[in-house]
Amino acid sequence: MTDDHEIRRSVEELRLTFKSGKTRSGDWRKAQLRAILRLVHENEDTLFRLLELELGKHPVESYRDEVGVIKKSADHALACIDQWMSPKKGRLPLVFFPASRKVLSEPLGVVLIIGSWNFPITLTLDPLIGAISAGNTVVLKPSELSPNCASFLANVLPSYLDPKAVKVIEGGREVAHQLLEYKWDKIFFTGSPKVGKIVMAAAAKNLTPVTLELGGKCPVIFDSLPNSDLKVAVKRVASGKWGACAGQACIGIDYVIVEHKFASTLIEQLKKTIKIFYGDDVKNLKNHSKIINKNHFDRLRSFLEDPAVANCIVYGGSFDDTSLIIEPTILLDPPLDAAIMNEEIFGPLLPIITVDNIEESVEFVNSKPKPLALYAFTKNENFKKRILAETSSGSVTFNDTMIQFVCDDLPFGGVGQSGFGRYHGKYSFNTFSHEKAVLERSFYFELEPRHPPWSRFKLEF
Ligand code: NAD
Repeated sequence: MTDDHEIRRSVEELRLTFKSGKTRSGDWRKAQLRAILRLVHENEDTLFRLLELELGKHPVESYRDEVGVIKKSADHALACIDQWMSPKKGRLPLVFFPASRKVLSEPLGVVLIIGSWNFPITLTLDPLIGAISAGNTVVLKPSELSPNCASFLANVLPSYLDPKAVKVIEGGREVAHQLLEYKWDKIFFTGSPKVGKIVMAAAAKNLTPVTLELGGKCPVIFDSLPNSDLKVAVKRVASGKWGACAGQACIGIDYVIVEHKFASTLIEQLKKTIKIFYGDDVKNLKNHSKIINKNHFDRLRSFLEDPAVANCIVYGGSFDDTSLIIEPTILLDPPLDAAIMNEEIFGPLLPIITVDNIEESVEFVNSKPKPLALYAFTKNENFKKRILAETSSGSVTFNDTMIQFVCDDLPFGGVGQSGFGRYHGKYSFNTFSHEKAVLERSFYFELEPRHPPWSRFKLEF
């Protein structure tokens, strides 16, 4: 465990570095961003190995969801940083004449980033790119549930980035509690709503601003589709459910809503697609990640221990205790009061909920806490408008899944139970900046009616 003395020394050093002003310079920020690019480039094979060891991720998945995402984000930040940092000029009311105004983005100071284990590189380095671009110094605390990736970051980051400005502190809940005792200028947290509340309560003691990137149950509304579109749509659903860390993804699909009359068509196509993507031998499942640890494996198994839920399995349901792999599993209409329909699944179990008319899905989604992502497969333009107007979620993606995460020009973040604050691209820069309003007047002209003594004439002026 990290002792408190070490944490204190690190935080003090970061504060001194911030005070020195060096992190404010554009050159320093760009040098750090280039170093992150070099880090992921030069350590690509190590990262593939660690992600395979810890989560069973195939290198293609690791590149798509972690290494490639970081390269893209750092490249984007490098291309845009001059523009992001430049003061924004604008107009003023005529009565201020002569005057000028600008909005200056200034770094917040010393920030704490707490990461999750499911994308242990992306969910630490992506916010770090934002924090550095904005000119902050940073403590990064990766999740203890992916200890190899956490140690990699702790060992390797200091030899690439400015070690006086970026520190990695490893540890679990106790270390997180120790860190939360300090006064930060911003806390950026990725994790569960339960721990998000602890983080926010700790931040409140110092009025520290927080961004909470939380989770929830992300639905797919699946309208009846013609055969020509069905295959592509189902591939995108299967990828969004099983193709990113075996469903252990905050924006992964939690459940699907479909009309009764279309359910069997959808399920048959899902079964075919699963077999093509992963095979059907759970002991030798191809291209499919494992569950992070035995606790989470047992948590997922416990969903199916309810006989009323187990009876609803229409595909899969096998668990391999040795490899911690759970077969892609489909359930049809599990009871709505069962745990699987009320807790975030975060694994490869997929409930399919049927309704008489797909329009009912809007009420269904609205009966649950606001999700981080909502997916809808439909060609009905009026239905799309209704979904946008009548539901609330961090994002809405029509006719695909997950890809919104990699769009730098889209804000990424939750609403309600799925969190608040947003990042990615310019949104990350803003999240770690204070927009300072600057107004400058000249002495050239004075509008006397603004000053006392008051008179009727001044009121009418
Ligand atoms: P978690 O909340 O258990 O842990 C997240 C981080 O908080 C870890 O670094 C952990 O060490 C720390 N932590 C754990 N207990 C703590 C405590 N009592 N006090 C302070 N810190 C503590 O979450 P998890 O299991 O790592 O991740 C799963 C959850 O995270 C899911 O709900 C998922 O949806 C969500 N998630 C959200 C996003 C997103 O971008 N919105 C991404 C990934 C995961």
